[in-house]
Amino acid sequence: MPCQSDIELKKLVEEAKKFTQYGKVADYIPELGKANPNDLSIAINYPDGRCFSAGDIEKKISLQSISKVISLALVLMDRGKDYVFERVGMEPTGDPFNSIAKLETTAPAKPLNPMINAGALVVTHMIQGENVEERFKRLLKFIQDLSGDTTVAYSENVARSEFETAFLNRALCYFLKQHGIIKEDVEQLLDLYTKQCAIEMNCLDLARMGIVFAMDGVDPQSGKQIMPVDVARICKTFMVTCGMYNASGEFAIKIGIPAKSGVSGGIMGAVPGKFGIGIFGPALDEKGNSIAGIKLLEFLSKKYQLSMF
Ligand code: GLN
Repeated sequence: MPCQSDIELKKLVEEAKKFTQYGKVADYIPELGKANPNDLSIAINYPDGRCFSAGDIEKKISLQSISKVISLALVLMDRGKDYVFERVGMEPTGDPFNSIAKLETTAPAKPLNPMINAGALVVTHMIQGENVEERFKRLLKFIQDLSGDTTVAYSENVARSEFETAFLNRALCYFLKQHGIIKEDVEQLLDLYTKQCAIEMNCLDLARMGIVFAMDGVDPQSGKQIMPVDVARICKTFMVTCGMYNASGEFAIKIGIPAKSGVSGGIMGAVPGKFGIGIFGPALDEKGNSIAGIKLLEFLSKKYQLSMF
């Protein structure tokens, strides 16, 4: 088993931290702009319950795009594969996560995959429940089950901050609604989506969610199958092909771990059959991924030969 000590991780964090100076904190969601660009932390969670970590691992971060892989898992369980993939595709775009460009050229406005904003909005639209409150509660409960932490909640400030400034996501929603892919009220959908993105947790919880994907849907702590094997497999595949936005190809070559990032600087990694990883480093590269977080994963992958390819 790779990396069995906090000291080892601390050294790698110190090394990777040097790269935070080349990144920038996301500020298009004003509340995220308050993060400290020099932060970097990591937790690794093993199936036997051991956890190694370095950095300020108690700090909470909002999931942002990491939530997209989780809402996808829930919706696959709610609706089944056929229903979901009739409405959202399986192909990487090569475009930034918030791009609207390909919606116009892929008939009939079906988003290419669930990891770009357009696709994630369609996925959130598919979460079952009577109203926004019930749909959000179901998603939150699922995330609490995955992380094994019943205290996980969302940040009202982050949700409000995004809701008030989500002009591009509104545009995506209206485009999708025009083409009949989204049926509900756009403001209602954005309310749910921004709350989903604002769900907060620390690196330890992130690593615990990662391990459930790594172990084919089983929480190794409780032995409970939290999602079916094929749902975990589909999610991990999307993490490889689209999880790091339009840097997923390079990430697969250099690191080779299924991972999902968010603009808050979080990365959830799932090393198949081995362990879960949670990273927080809010300074982002130009594609919106944690710049030092990626370096840290690169160091780990090289040192312990973690690439699955
Ligand atoms: N809430 C963010 C948005 O929709 C999520 C994007 C991300 O993390 N890349 O813009």
